[in-house]
Amino acid sequence: MKYYSTNKQEFGVSLCDAVVRGLASDKGLFMPDEIKKLPAEFFDNIEHLSLQEMAFAVANAFFGEDIHADDLKSIVYDTLNFEIPLINVEKNIYTLELFHGPTLAFKDVGARFMSRLLGYFVKKQGLSDVNVLVATSGDTGSAVANGFLGVDGISVYVLYPKGKVSAIQECQFTTLGKNITAIEVDGTFDDCQRLVKTAFLDEDINKKKLLTSANSINVARFLPQSFYYFYAYAQLKKLNKHKNVVMCVPSGNFGNITAGIFAKKMGLPIRRFVAANNSNDVFLKYLNTGEYVPFPSVSTIANAMDVGDPSNFARILDLYKNNHSVICQEIDGFAYSDNAIKSAILECFAETKYLLDPHGACGYLALKETLKDDENGVFLETAHPIKFKDTVELVIGKRLEVPEKIQAFMKGKKQTVLMSKEFSDFKTYLMNL
Ligand SMILES: *Cc1c(COP(=O)(O)O)cnc(C)c1O
Repeated sequence: MKYYSTNKQEFGVSLCDAVVRGLASDKGLFMPDEIKKLPAEFFDNIEHLSLQEMAFAVANAFFGEDIHADDLKSIVYDTLNFEIPLINVEKNIYTLELFHGPTLAFKDVGARFMSRLLGYFVKKQGLSDVNVLVATSGDTGSAVANGFLGVDGISVYVLYPKGKVSAIQECQFTTLGKNITAIEVDGTFDDCQRLVKTAFLDEDINKKKLLTSANSINVARFLPQSFYYFYAYAQLKKLNKHKNVVMCVPSGNFGNITAGIFAKKMGLPIRRFVAANNSNDVFLKYLNTGEYVPFPSVSTIANAMDVGDPSNFARILDLYKNNHSVICQEIDGFAYSDNAIKSAILECFAETKYLLDPHGACGYLALKETLKDDENGVFLETAHPIKFKDTVELVIGKRLEVPEKIQAFMKGKKQTVLMSKEFSDFKTYLMNL
């Protein structure tokens, strides 16, 4: 399968190239030339498949031409070795808990899949050491670091703002060792992001080192998220609740929901999508006005969705050929303030005993607002509430127990490299690796 750029200046790119480079040379995002429909028998039988079997069939449609079936199978099986439960919250509202991976974040699946696919190409093509740079305000760093831990031929550098990441988040990427280096930057998250972006553009570094990023612009990170949608549908089918399915996705960079749209294009019967946002409502404004006007992000308690210019918006436009009215038919949008998010956590817990995290709370609210009686709605729970412990505890007035998985990280020894926010220092560091 070949890949083209959403900016239409690059075509015929191999999967290996698309994964190693991440972004096209015209700054567009890579898209597969074709989205293959899965056969009717697959959907007839879907509720009898395990998560791994189902994901392998889906992955095969995207990557089967470029990776030997046995290798692809082990990448998929190794990525998805944990549970993804579907839970009935109330009436026709369900949630798919995507946070049972190693760092309790839904980004675990994409990060693990990408690390193994990149590792496969590094080995097969005999690439020299690949360096993954990632700037994080918390969640992405831990998922990427744990996803890539121990993968041969790849070194990961996680840049994070000193003193501005919660203890629970910090321990998940500073205690790992091996091929993972945590860089503690004396600055803000924006400084970290600037250092990474400047490094990608720096000629001297790029002549000497192979650099890549691991965010959801990378096809290997966002596409595997389509597994979730097939799995959600299959679980609903088991319950005979698979008519008129609405999938509601707490969205930031819109990678996850874009993977859902791919699933629908592969034949998955989803009636419509709902994008749930916090106060960063650039997508909702686009739906309402037809104009896309990015703005600097505002901080909220659902901070993994604090994005003012979602990178995957370009993929959504491409999938629907820029047709605003078709996009409005397929995707609904809602946005919620911090106060609305807090009330939702409190009310949902009081009425149903289900504890939402601030991101999932946006999804829950949006379904409550839009779901019709003849529809079955699933919102994706993208983070374990413990990751937003302080907020959630304050809202429900109860202490939360820290799960064992996280406690294990907290026992590890913190190891970091201290760095100023000056690019020249970071450059010297990279050149001397
Ligand atoms: C990254 C993230 C999101 C947003 O996902 P996108 O694919 O960027 O839209 C939502 N919730 C949580 C907890 C996240 O970490």
